[in-house]
Amino acid sequence: MDIDANLIEKMVKQVLNEIDAGKAKAEKTTAPEVKNENRNSASYGIFNTMEEAIDACDAAQKQYLFCSMAERQKYVQTLRNVVLKQENLELISRLAVEETGMGNYPHKLIKNRLAAEKSPGIEDLETEALSGDDGLTLVEYCPFGVIGAITPATNPTETIICNSIGMLAAGNSIVFSPHPRAKDVTIKLITMINKALEEAGAPQNLIVTVVEPSIENTNVMMKHPKVRMLVATGGPAIVKLVMSTGKKAIGAGAGNPPVVVDETADIKKAAIDIINGCSFDNNLPCIAEKEVIAVDSITDELIRNMKENGAYQVTDPAVIQKLADLVRKEGGGPKTSFVGKSAVYILEKIGIQAGPEVRVIIMETPKDHPFVMEELMMPILPIVRTRNVDEAIDLALIAERGNRHTAMMHSKNVDKLTKMAKLLQTTIFVKNAPSYAGIGVGGEGHTTFTIAGPTGEGLTSAKSFCRKRRCVLSDAFHIR
Ligand code: NAD
Repeated sequence: MDIDANLIEKMVKQVLNEIDAGKAKAEKTTAPEVKNENRNSASYGIFNTMEEAIDACDAAQKQYLFCSMAERQKYVQTLRNVVLKQENLELISRLAVEETGMGNYPHKLIKNRLAAEKSPGIEDLETEALSGDDGLTLVEYCPFGVIGAITPATNPTETIICNSIGMLAAGNSIVFSPHPRAKDVTIKLITMINKALEEAGAPQNLIVTVVEPSIENTNVMMKHPKVRMLVATGGPAIVKLVMSTGKKAIGAGAGNPPVVVDETADIKKAAIDIINGCSFDNNLPCIAEKEVIAVDSITDELIRNMKENGAYQVTDPAVIQKLADLVRKEGGGPKTSFVGKSAVYILEKIGIQAGPEVRVIIMETPKDHPFVMEELMMPILPIVRTRNVDEAIDLALIAERGNRHTAMMHSKNVDKLTKMAKLLQTTIFVKNAPSYAGIGVGGEGHTTFTIAGPTGEGLTSAKSFCRKRRCVLSDAFHIR
């Protein structure tokens, strides 16, 4: 009896000790209770003022810091799932086209699905470990904190989906400042994501925005001390702005992707690839084919194949001029009202009726034509003839305008492919495929809708939104 009583007492003591130890551990690793007074329970991340949004997002990040990697993984998966739910996918794709008046619904569906499926999550954050006589050092990808993300009108939902996946996987919370033209669809998407995250047990307000996005609100966000990193996806003005804030900034700017076709290419395939890439979402993607530079000896064959695969050729110089007057502003650059419109719509405006099979308007132009030199973001594709491939590559370099964004080449000549890749120095260089192979559609690699050329991160993913931090343990855990 005595022995049993002692044994039981010992066991009880042991269990109590274990419980105490567990409590102590839990105290060390549990998030401090953060009171978020700004949250209106029905808002799901949508705030009246930028200050309120940032405060709530900062509070969310402080809680998020104490979530485990398994929880992060769960929340990222929750985000993917909510976007991939067919009715949601259809809703945001339809609203994006309706609200912005740009792009087309079937391609928005593809792009949103792609962003949800192929933007890397926590697996992107590979830890580096160094071990030796002095112990063990870890270099880990850690969050910045609150990220301010500025998103374009051209890919409004795709950018929010891929940024959210990468930034959340990296442990950050996000304040989005969308283009005012895409405000309603942005609010709809952010509400949808936040609701799902909260149901999955995530801290509230991990992803926030404001009821009325505006340049003023973007400026408040860029200057706010609680916003540690800025990510701008858009034209040159906003990229320059974020880079001049003094904060860590990622700039994903404009492109004007040339495509070179030489005499060694599979001309029929090149024609099909170019029309497919150029017409994708009515040419809105910054990576989409914007001008063709072809070697003279194959240009006729290329044009013939393009016409057999969805191109409408304009040959009359007066009609080409009429088209330029229609879609360009007086001072240069595309008229907003024609960006992302279909070839059929644009042709109709100059009195040409075309069937739905027409996806791209092509024409031969001189090498310095504005259609060649300006990023139009509509399915108008100029073609310039050159005497040889070297001349074509030189012209591609000029037409790319130093953006170092994206370029394509159709050729079987390895030396010339290498020459063009080296000379243009673009973030994405696609060989013998449509431009979208560069973002993981029919090409290897992950996807992103934030391609950071100016600041050098390239095709952004979770690790782009991290700080690298070193953690050193001296004289131990070296087991060799
Ligand atoms: P945009 O530059 O007009 O707007 C982009 C974002 O910046 C919007 O949210 C807008 O409100 C904001 N913005 C612009 N000027 C601002 C200013 N002065 N102050 C504060 N905020 C400002 O571009 P857009 O029409 O929405 O998108 C098309 C452009 O984005 C194209 O040039 C395209 O090539 C580029 N883009 C690049 C990538 C990439 O990954 N590199 C991806 C998509 C689009």
